[in-house]
Amino acid sequence: MITGRFAPTPSGRLHLGNLLCAMLAYLSARSQGGRFLLRIEDIDLPRCPRRLSLQCIEDLQWLGFTWDEEPLWQSERGHIYQHYLEELTKQGLIYPCFCTRAQLMASQAPNLGDTQVVYNRACASLSGEDIARLSQTRSPALRLRVPDAEITFTDGLFGAQRENLARDCGDFILRRSDGLFGYQLAVVVDDALSGVDQVVRGRDILSATPRQIFLLEMLGFPVPEYVHIPLLMDSQGRRLAKRDKDLDLSALSRRFTPAQILGMLAHSAGVIEENRPMTLEQLIPLFQWDKVKQADVRLPEMEAVHG
Ligand code: GLU
Repeated sequence: MITGRFAPTPSGRLHLGNLLCAMLAYLSARSQGGRFLLRIEDIDLPRCPRRLSLQCIEDLQWLGFTWDEEPLWQSERGHIYQHYLEELTKQGLIYPCFCTRAQLMASQAPNLGDTQVVYNRACASLSGEDIARLSQTRSPALRLRVPDAEITFTDGLFGAQRENLARDCGDFILRRSDGLFGYQLAVVVDDALSGVDQVVRGRDILSATPRQIFLLEMLGFPVPEYVHIPLLMDSQGRRLAKRDKDLDLSALSRRFTPAQILGMLAHSAGVIEENRPMTLEQLIPLFQWDKVKQADVRLPEMEAVHG
């Protein structure tokens, strides 16, 4: 039996992009008779206050989602991430990094965007003395040493993928200098410990997957099946963003029923041919991955969505 999951970061109200992901993850798991789990990725608690997490759960329930266990709350699992960080430390894969943001930006290769910096390994071979001296003035981030090796996998929708970790990604941070665990470690540990073997999520995370596979392998966990899904665009073809308040659930739930919202999303994603109200239960038998295409999903004018 497969186990799927939805793992939102509740830093705002759920919007249609999150819902598309929740819906496809849910339909995929349930249509195969599988289990479905909910994980609240509120590891950055100041950005994801409890109020928003509870709202997210309430919104999912309003839409008819069910899950098979109590939701996991990442903000409560720091001791577990610490345990696995220590495992990696024992393997010699972790080193402290004292670089400031300014230093990191200055070392950046000119052809890379500012979102991804291949770390220049300035701190990769500090001596014990250096570390002791630097620790007096600054608490370090902890980085994972990645090999000069290709990670390959086949995405359910986007096909064969490969990345050389050292060249394309670089040593990445598993714990920030303020003590916050990085997203990559938390996701990997949580998916593995909860038995998730099918990960469905937005294609914006496709590029992080090789890092996660490497972590899984180093920790001795099995690698799940990955299906990255297209992004959702508004009716003008622009990517949805948290600023599009009219497409978040507080606005939508005032204008539409759950079945109208789900039917419209399922239609936009290719799961059903006609745009008509549908419950999750009704969508389960109609779901097949080969109906979902790689191309970004364009929403209709919301005015055109009716019962
Ligand atoms: N929490 C992430 C997000 O909301 C998704 C993580 C995942 O699905 O692996 O973007």
